Amino acid sequence: MKTRTSRTLVTVAAAVALTLCACGTAPAPPTPQRTVPVEPLRIGDAATDTVGGWLPAGVTLSPFDVSNPIVGWLDPSLLTAIQDAADAAAADRIDMRITSGWRTPGFQQRLFDMGVQRYGSVEAAREFVAAPEVSKHVTGEAVDIAPVEADMWLIRNGSRFGLCQIFANEIWHFELAVVDGRCPPLRPNAAG
Ligand SMILES: [Zn+2]
Repeated sequence: MKTRTSRTLVTVAAAVALTLCACGTAPAPPTPQRTVPVEPLRIGDAATDTVGGWLPAGVTLSPFDVSNPIVGWLDPSLLTAIQDAADAAAADRIDMRITSGWRTPGFQQRLFDMGVQRYGSVEAAREFVAAPEVSKHVTGEAVDIAPVEADMWLIRNGSRFGLCQIFANEIWHFELAVVDGRCPPLRPNAAG
């Protein structure tokens, strides 16, 4: 017969006093224009989410930050166009930032699933987010740009660089789409 004495050790983690950031409250973003019906879908609350193409909420990238695959794996001609546009915008004191670019199919699927949750059905979600099979982000042929001033600058000037807004309900989403010097008519949404 064997007697076993078990001992439970309870480790109590000592509280560590942390010096917390005394950052002030960020200034409120500009009031969205009436042409902005919805915010883009973002996965911003999953700190452990490492799927390709994800950026933490509030984090943006420079169009020249090619070390990040979100930027670096964009289609080369789109990347060049965005960089040239960013240089020209900077001359107008507009800081052009990328909030999303290249995405894996898995990340796009998660965005689509979130869209279904937010909008209530697959059909409704298709108006706001593309399925992985059709998303130009998955092929590196689309970028999402911020802030709103940069979107508005690019809507006015993007065709010089081959860049066009594609969907009426996504002022932040741009693709190379110029034909004969002009952008095509806006499609109402990603489903239209
Ligand atoms: Zn987009």
